[in-house]
Amino acid sequence: MSERVCLVHYHEIGLKGKNRATFENQLVTNLNRALRDFPVGRVSRISGHILVEAEDGMATDEMAHAISRVPGVARVSVSYRCGLDEGEYCHAAVRALREVPEPWNSFKVHARRSSTAYGKHTLEMMQIVGSELCHAFPEKKVDVHNPDVTVIVHVVQGNAYVYADTGPGVGGLPVGTAGKVVSLFSSGFDSPVATWMVGRRGATMIPVHFSGRPMTSDGSEWLCRDLVDALAPSGIIGRMYVVPFGEYQRQISLTVPQSLRVIMYRRVMFAVSERIAQLEGAKALVTGESLGQVASQTLDNIAAVNEMVSLPVLRPLIGSDKQEIMRRAEELGTYEISAQDAPDCCTLFMPRKPETHARIREVHEAWDLLDHDTMIEDLVQNVEYIDFDQCASYKPPRGLRARHRELAPRSVGNDYKWEETAGTA
Ligand code: ATP
Ligand code: MG
Repeated sequence: MSERVCLVHYHEIGLKGKNRATFENQLVTNLNRALRDFPVGRVSRISGHILVEAEDGMATDEMAHAISRVPGVARVSVSYRCGLDEGEYCHAAVRALREVPEPWNSFKVHARRSSTAYGKHTLEMMQIVGSELCHAFPEKKVDVHNPDVTVIVHVVQGNAYVYADTGPGVGGLPVGTAGKVVSLFSSGFDSPVATWMVGRRGATMIPVHFSGRPMTSDGSEWLCRDLVDALAPSGIIGRMYVVPFGEYQRQISLTVPQSLRVIMYRRVMFAVSERIAQLEGAKALVTGESLGQVASQTLDNIAAVNEMVSLPVLRPLIGSDKQEIMRRAEELGTYEISAQDAPDCCTLFMPRKPETHARIREVHEAWDLLDHDTMIEDLVQNVEYIDFDQCASYKPPRGLRARHRELAPRSVGNDYKWEETAGTA
């Protein structure tokens, strides 16, 4: 009997010339991580594809589904693997076609050889398999131009891989091939989607969440943790930083004109995030901003905040409508979590009438009222973090332990794995 394996197809990796092996190896590593709860035997590269074998030789649709969510995967097929005996691969083709969900009416056969060791020409293979299928499915039609289903028979290194159904993957590039990016991560709808979009392009993502603690509860931190878990199938997130910001927001709200509070909060958030990016060796920041969506997202206000940092700030949602973002959040499984309400630093000390078009001179005057350098330094020193095991490419920065205060033990339940650090050095 033939085995079942998952055949993983990728597009863009093939375009990367000399880097191709690096990209393929990273994808193999990431697939191994994504499939860690499945009984996987081996994940290996074969002739422009990646092959995932199950321990018992019976790869499943559930495995294929997990594979399809990994960035870099264009398509995935649960395929039969058989020998080069034509009876064997014809039989597999019949089984593969039988498994295609109805309704479908027409099919064609496509044969490929990635090794010349096999004597039969692909045209001959297509004829042999095609006539067997016509015999087995007399009620269906052959349509070589526009078939409902294509049965693939692919000869690679002494085996034929046969499949009829192939599901789409998320596309993009393997996480770990684009460097690290720090993401300003709230528990709202937008930033998890923005984080996923940049992660899908190969970046290892490091969310930074500003919590209203101690002036609010830690509810938003829990939501962020749930959001990170919801994104786990994509394997994009290595570590999340949490910055308790409430006390500093209080100071800001007492010091600057009310209408400029939000811009001041944001300037501090950007500065702290850039410091974390430097510690991590990250090369960019990302936000979930969308032009004009709320007061702080006008061009004037974006500029008033953006000038705080010299790293590039990626805004993948800048041209998206809320409806599109919500739809993507539903697909990713983050919608239900983001829909829950938890006070975070955004809801704390909000002005009644925030400035929508800040004048940069007034912004600078307000900024100078703050002891901002001390504030930023204190926040960086008090940052907390939690590590996740979903991302195979994440490497924590060296020396960070020494530079961070011990994480305050908090009554947050047993499974909240705050990493213990060594205290200030
Ligand atoms: P989101 O749905 O991502 O919360 P939003 O529509 O609520 O976005 P804002 O609150 O103005 O919009 O936030 C704009 C962006 O600023 C967010 O997408 C996120 O990148 C960042 N941001 C906002 N609040 C926080 C926070 N508490 N911690 C970290 N980043 C934040
Ligand atoms: Mg928000």
